[in-house]
Amino acid sequence: MSHTTNEAAFERAKKVLPGGVNSPVRAFGSIGATPPVIARGEGGCFFDVEGNRYIDYIQSWGPLILGHAHKEVIEAVCSTAKQGLGFGTPTELESEIAERVLKAYPFLEKLRFVSTGTEAVMTAIRLARGVTGKTAVIKFKGNYHGHSDTLLVQAGSGAATFGHPSSPGVPTDFAKHTLVAEYNDLAAVEAFFKAEHDIACVVIEPIAGNMGLIPADEAFLQGLRKLCTDNGALLIFDEVMSGFRAGPMGACSHTAVRPDMVTFGKVIGGGMPVAAFGANAQIMSHLSPEGPVYQAGTLSGNPVAVAAGIATLKVIQETDGFYDTLTKRAQKLTAGLEAAAQAANIPLVTDVRGSMFGFFFSDKPVKNFTDAAACDIERFKRFYREMLLRGVYLAPSAFEAGFISLATEEDLIDESIAAAHEAMKAIA
Ligand SMILES: *Cc1c(COP(=O)(O)O)cnc(C)c1O
Repeated sequence: MSHTTNEAAFERAKKVLPGGVNSPVRAFGSIGATPPVIARGEGGCFFDVEGNRYIDYIQSWGPLILGHAHKEVIEAVCSTAKQGLGFGTPTELESEIAERVLKAYPFLEKLRFVSTGTEAVMTAIRLARGVTGKTAVIKFKGNYHGHSDTLLVQAGSGAATFGHPSSPGVPTDFAKHTLVAEYNDLAAVEAFFKAEHDIACVVIEPIAGNMGLIPADEAFLQGLRKLCTDNGALLIFDEVMSGFRAGPMGACSHTAVRPDMVTFGKVIGGGMPVAAFGANAQIMSHLSPEGPVYQAGTLSGNPVAVAAGIATLKVIQETDGFYDTLTKRAQKLTAGLEAAAQAANIPLVTDVRGSMFGFFFSDKPVKNFTDAAACDIERFKRFYREMLLRGVYLAPSAFEAGFISLATEEDLIDESIAAAHEAMKAIA
């Protein structure tokens, strides 16, 4: 694989963009390598500026569940764009995408569309605060909900301490309203509710994908549901990643628990900037213009972006056994990774939820961020570089999930498993 043009292209980017990127993880900082600069995608693969091919397991970090440049999605975008790029008025496409999302999540009644997952979760929390008249938010260590001030907070030590900002620029005054508990630890959440009566909501990734793939235990989710109901707080499922990824009803396909609010992003835009949050009509009636909780967006519900989302949801909803197919492929891949690790005598644990997969270099189950951080991160980095050399592009961080697309066909999985056997041997 030649990489001189890639390196020149990335040097150019570093002169004009901090770290050479517009979103930090793309810079490969935690991998210790120069990221390939990508020129185009096709199905389950993408190609860098030198024409090197990679099997792509990030799929634009989740959105491209049909793969790159899917014919129907591209056609929908082009034909919509020809009618004009946007109007800042109501359009029929907005109702159509809302109807498709609500059809999949029948316990929701109304949605507000925005452009990014960050906006969706930020506004869902504003709405929860507006509806309950309360202030504090409980979140979980290692869950990511976008980069808004309230949510860019990690745990202090000790269960009942207030959160402190995980980034300079987030005022301590904002962060102090965010309480951070360990994932899958109901006692920690119970303690918060006992000590603090001003809790507006609990926000959770019901299938965490931002600390590697770690699903919440059913009993934990049931416990959160009861604590929220008993204490007049709202339960928010952040399904920006898991929505239409983990199953036909996202994470809700895997649990009997129903939250008060759900946030969406990634897949519902099919690769374009579309996100949303939803709840029942009563909760949503607090939102402006029906109610007093303010939210607005110049490009919200943009027709070209929404057209990509509709085309994507259409294929998902009209393809028989869509998620079964993707789940089987993800399981084949993780079984292959496990076999490769075993042959090299390397401990590895894996998991699959729909089209999401994850793996940890660990000899015991991983249930929370502390477990994830205790895995062999150095080994991950070496494995990552070996796989990249063999044309397999995994998420460049030990704390991210991987994604299978409809275009990630069996032959690509086989090729990836063969690469994994060589890579595991190289790092044993
Ligand atoms: C990606 C993600 C977000 C943020 O979405 P952006 O579109 O990047 O702002 C929020 N929550 C979860 C669970 C995510 O995976």
